[in-house]
Amino acid sequence: MSLLVKGGTVVGPTGTRVADVLVEGEKIVAVLDPSFTPTITANEVIDASGKYVIPGGIDAHTHMEMPFGGTSASDTFDTGTRAAAYGGTTTIIDFAIQRTGEVVQDGLAAWRAKTEGECHIDYAFHMILGGVDTDALKAMDQLVADEGITSFKLFMAYPGVFYSDDGQILRAMQTARANGAMIMMHAENGIAIDVLVQQALERGETDPIYHGITRPAALEAEATNRAIALAEVAQDCPLYIVHLSASQALAKVAEARDAGRNVFAETCPQYLYLTLEDQLGAPGFEGAKWVCSTPLRSKHESHARDLWKGLRSNDLAIVSTDHCPFCMKDQKEMGIGDFSKIPNGIGGVEHRVDLIFQGVVDGHLSLERWVETIATTPARMFGLYPQKGIVQPGSDADLVIYDPNGTTRIGVETHHMNMDYSAYEGVEIQGRVGTVISRGEVIVADGNYHGRKGRGKFLKRGLSSYLM
Ligand SMILES: [Zn+2]
Repeated sequence: MSLLVKGGTVVGPTGTRVADVLVEGEKIVAVLDPSFTPTITANEVIDASGKYVIPGGIDAHTHMEMPFGGTSASDTFDTGTRAAAYGGTTTIIDFAIQRTGEVVQDGLAAWRAKTEGECHIDYAFHMILGGVDTDALKAMDQLVADEGITSFKLFMAYPGVFYSDDGQILRAMQTARANGAMIMMHAENGIAIDVLVQQALERGETDPIYHGITRPAALEAEATNRAIALAEVAQDCPLYIVHLSASQALAKVAEARDAGRNVFAETCPQYLYLTLEDQLGAPGFEGAKWVCSTPLRSKHESHARDLWKGLRSNDLAIVSTDHCPFCMKDQKEMGIGDFSKIPNGIGGVEHRVDLIFQGVVDGHLSLERWVETIATTPARMFGLYPQKGIVQPGSDADLVIYDPNGTTRIGVETHHMNMDYSAYEGVEIQGRVGTVISRGEVIVADGNYHGRKGRGKFLKRGLSSYLM
């Protein structure tokens, strides 16, 4: 079975050019100057003239079906990966979880069971370590060597749930330094945050906005700085700061990168577009829709502007979603009268490619940087390159044909995520996902779905391409 994507503008990290992309089976076999292709025959031809042809999006941070605070994220691997496909994402990296007191491999087995036969697109796992001890350190080696899981997430937040103390973090970093894995860090000072939360509740400050106010930027910056220092002590263990939201934390990352350190960071669309005042501070309980950690930041400070700048300068390497949806009904509502009981998370796996394209339209990013931050760099960062993240011969035929002349209106009535609201209700994007191809198979065409659950494959990952 062959497929020719004809006449589109292929966008990659190093530039754009009009080219025909020939696919045989699941792979790209040629990227050709259009003047050569009249001689090529294919079973199916898709006209992409006037459109961008980009590598399928890779969302390196999702939490499908994740248990949190007595409930679970509302997207299953079935509904969540289908929604991702609609939005031009053809690979996700989800977080398998080792709970405190649990064997790491048992946590991984649980995630394998959840995903088996469920995913519409390809998927891989990071591993959350909720209990770093000698067995967990040994398990890190085993996961890197045998399971294709080469990144481990630790939490400086959520004491009593996922929290690791500095000693545990250091030991995990030393292990990662030795086996080549990446340490991913939720960098917020959870011990101090818990004090602020308790004090706020005692004052009767129970509305959703206090979720943001009790997680100040200074405590994100402090934890980011501490993580960077611990990684330095662990002989420059590779460190990746997840969901960075504050200018002050970005400054710490930039300083480390300027010093040549193995420090990387991602941000998420919610921190580029949404704010503490306008969303989290919405009247009544409405703000619960936007309770996530790290929290949305103040529009009166320079965070969003600095994050866009960080994406341009590569101090922020990747845009992921931290997709962790909860419905308002029965889920977010658990926190009426006590913001600390609102499940933390925003759903957005369907909208990342569009929202960052809007950044191109608005003059924040180049086309090349759009593709880098949503596809190429996630592939390189997490050991999927060049199988994923690039339009070139030999790579998987994961392609999105993106129409810069189309429009996308985001809303709960039209999205495909299993959420009863949209975090971006009414936002209009000057661009539109047209055709989505996953390993040579058209799974979305003009808003119609042709994929099926179970077709997505588990990807064993190698080590990061960026490490020395
Ligand atoms: Zn997360």
